Amino acid sequence: MTSIPRRSSVRVLIGPVHVGGGAPIVVQSMTNTDTADVDGTAQQVKSLARAGSELVRVTVNTAEAADAVPRIRDRLDQMGVGVPLIGDFHFNGHKLLREHPGCAEALAKYRINPGNVGRGSKRDPQFAEMIETACRYDKPVRIGVNWGSLDQDLLTRLMDENSASSQPQSAQQIMRSAVVLSALESARRAEALGLRHDRIILSAKVSGVQDLIAIYGELASRCDYPLHLGLTEAGMGSKGIVASTAGMAVLLQRGIGDTIRVSLTPEPGGDRTQEVIVAQEILQTMGLRSFLPLVTACPGCGRTTSTVFQELAQRIQTHIRHRMPEWRREYEGVEDMTVAVMGCVVNGPGESKHANIGISLPGTGERPVAPVYEDGEKTVTLKGDHIAEEFQEMLERYVARRFTRKSAPAESVPA
Ligand code: SF4
Repeated sequence: MTSIPRRSSVRVLIGPVHVGGGAPIVVQSMTNTDTADVDGTAQQVKSLARAGSELVRVTVNTAEAADAVPRIRDRLDQMGVGVPLIGDFHFNGHKLLREHPGCAEALAKYRINPGNVGRGSKRDPQFAEMIETACRYDKPVRIGVNWGSLDQDLLTRLMDENSASSQPQSAQQIMRSAVVLSALESARRAEALGLRHDRIILSAKVSGVQDLIAIYGELASRCDYPLHLGLTEAGMGSKGIVASTAGMAVLLQRGIGDTIRVSLTPEPGGDRTQEVIVAQEILQTMGLRSFLPLVTACPGCGRTTSTVFQELAQRIQTHIRHRMPEWRREYEGVEDMTVAVMGCVVNGPGESKHANIGISLPGTGERPVAPVYEDGEKTVTLKGDHIAEEFQEMLERYVARRFTRKSAPAESVPA
């Protein structure tokens, strides 16, 4: 693993999960079900947790949703899913927490958006009420600023000061300053209200990559709170993945960010767990954490004219992700395994030798055989119509042989 110094020395406990203070960077996600739908939300939380989400946030926007939260918690506990739940509050959070103590208790953390706690004279007392509730129930809080719902009083104040300045800054610079200041001033207010320093996480989400890098860089230089990293409204498909990765990778490489979420817009009917997979892959490809074996596959070229190669790479990737919850429970260090699936003999054997286990399929015009390498040595040459099945079986045997079996399950994995 690459050793990159972590910025935050403060460790915040969210249930059993540690954020900051040198703990591994935590992956989190958010449901998109109606929280009042207990079954649907519990099932989605379970899927997200099974995919590897270590914290899951749910919207708490109505009395029905607040009422559902403790029942969702119970349902998850019955299913053996211990993932901590975070409540996302806007506008009426103070009231919902006051009127639904079961919700306040069942949540492991509250997310408060300082731009959405109340307008005008209501803002400060409603913010205070939420912080006092967090103190009473001993819950950590994420002060989550979002530029789409920035505190307008603060923004207006900074704009006025800027207009009166002899060297006015651009509107973009003022917006960035307002986002940072909103997070810092809210955190200061929360501490003045009695919330412990090590019960606060900050985030300052924007949708532009350069804004994100500038804002988090500023935030990291001005406080030591753990930071929740994420590009808000990242978008759909490759755009969302690329933009999130571009912004977060720069910051993570600089040691900024203690927990991350990738806010992807799912395709209609798409799988919500994709945001967890992308977050894990960002951290793993950067060498910051290991979650599951990486499949090294070549891109294919004119030497691979059939789809056999792509199908095998996809099959092995899917198999590994499907098997990982059990492998992780049973075998020590299996998440560090590397698997190579290569399209021809040009780079295939070389790449396979560097992997724990690798296969090199025959390219166009090559002999119809597929040499397999295990720990750098060629162990078998597969041929015929069942190469995919046989390689998958070899992978299973390799894992069982190569990795030490754990004496007792280290964690509860939802089935
Ligand atoms: S390993 Fe072979 S098939 Fe794959 S990209 Fe390289 S030359 Fe093409």
